[in-house]
Amino acid sequence: MELNPTAIGSIIKDEVLSFLFSPHVDEAGRVLQVGDGIVRVIGLSDAMSGELLQFENGSVGIAMNLEEDNIGVVLLGSGTGLGEGSFVTRTGRVAQMPVGDALLGRVVNALGQPLDQKGLVMVQDFRPIERVAPGVLARQKVDVPLLTGIKAIDAMVPIGRGQRQLIIGDRQTGKTAIALDTILNQRDKDVYCVYVAIGQKNSTVAGIVNTLTEYDALRYTTLVVASASENAPMLYLAPYSGMAIAEHWMEQGKDVLIVLDDLSKHAVAYRTMSLLLRRPPGREAYPGDVFYLHSRLLERAGRLSEQYGGGSITALPIIETQGGDMSAYIPTNVISITDGQIYLETESFNAGIRPAVNPGLSVSRVGGAAQVPAMKKIAAPIRVELAQYRELSSFAQFSSDLDKDTQKRLRHGERIVEILKQSQYAPMSLEHEILILFAMTRHCLDDIKVEDVLDFQQQLIEHFGVWHGGLVDEIRETQDLTPQLEEQLLKAINEFKASYLA
Ligand code: ATP
Ligand code: MG
Repeated sequence: MELNPTAIGSIIKDEVLSFLFSPHVDEAGRVLQVGDGIVRVIGLSDAMSGELLQFENGSVGIAMNLEEDNIGVVLLGSGTGLGEGSFVTRTGRVAQMPVGDALLGRVVNALGQPLDQKGLVMVQDFRPIERVAPGVLARQKVDVPLLTGIKAIDAMVPIGRGQRQLIIGDRQTGKTAIALDTILNQRDKDVYCVYVAIGQKNSTVAGIVNTLTEYDALRYTTLVVASASENAPMLYLAPYSGMAIAEHWMEQGKDVLIVLDDLSKHAVAYRTMSLLLRRPPGREAYPGDVFYLHSRLLERAGRLSEQYGGGSITALPIIETQGGDMSAYIPTNVISITDGQIYLETESFNAGIRPAVNPGLSVSRVGGAAQVPAMKKIAAPIRVELAQYRELSSFAQFSSDLDKDTQKRLRHGERIVEILKQSQYAPMSLEHEILILFAMTRHCLDDIKVEDVLDFQQQLIEHFGVWHGGLVDEIRETQDLTPQLEEQLLKAINEFKASYLA
């Protein structure tokens, strides 16, 4: 680092004077160098890592690098008006976030300042943005489902309350759409939602706010936004801020869903900060602790034991891959931290199979325990049959005449693919999901034309609503399929099918 002799002179002089006349020598320091949102500060030898520092121009910074003779600080505000020799003071605090019910329905930045036109956020409680995750003894098993309302996910990659499920895929493959539908599906389910937008365009975020408002989902949701136009430290803080909001509710015994959209941009923001702070770059120029960056964030999700209130945080982090490469550095890191992943494919998405969930590469390591018995019974064969269908269909292209069994499997597979398609903003209730998947696994759809399958689904649900409300209620209440119920369902479905085909 280059030092200008006059600056050193004046700094030494000030140091001596402040030593002589001030009892708190260490509480004030001086700026040595400022640029690119990074400030080098000297004279604050007692500053803590992560402490907020107050600059002369009103900006606040976070002490990141504590070195022997200076500290590296990232600025949260602007650096205008700061120069060599400007004053800095310690605050003795770490970054904090306002938390509480007043944040429901609000859009705030990573420091909790409102970004919507709804006035101040009236909260009494503040929490440090970073906190150590609850220990093993404070947690309990994940066994309550968090329903997404998306058939493909609830059946094949079920999510439980307290689980961390990664949504991964290339750009424009419907990652945000899945997270958003999951939020919409939590309406009247007593789950609070936090959506953290990291490095997205303001217009995209505005679209999300409009959707949430339109579907009456904003009243139980908080958005924490660090848009692409903000500086790297704000992007870096945003997911921790969102997690602090979620933790507050979890500790009150509530179930919370947090969406982190997306952590690839978070990692890039952290890399930018680290390179400017001159931390040594590692693989793909990311700093060595980028794994720890995400693990200490996602470890804070989970389900507390009854003794601690029984609340939970379900985390849906999102990662964008490049060219479908799941084995790049950041994707593999986050895959290993989470309890499973939903892998979305560009080819399927473009072929109109939406949501484009790849059944082979998507897994849920804990969600099975949270699936209701009825869904568990009917969902088990879907993955296998779908995988068989994919394999068969790829070689069936080359042969002209196929045997009966192969034809049957192909016909069934096509119906599975079709029935798992679902449009956006249309999450389904559990009983309807079970009804239609039951009809599918019992081969009731195999003689319906592929292009009519979704229309059949729609009409079947309407028909059951009018004529067989009792059966639907029974699925909802018992969440199980007894042999009698299965028989009654099958009879009602086949009767309806006869009239549908006629
Ligand atoms: P990005 O990488 O830009 O963040 P993304 O992976 O989050 O993209 P989305 O923005 O969710 O993808 O979706 C991309 C487009 O596909 C959007 O226009 C969305 O409306 C559409 N889309 C997503 N899911 C579905 C669906 N199930 N049915 C129809 N259209 C969909
Ligand atoms: Mg997106």
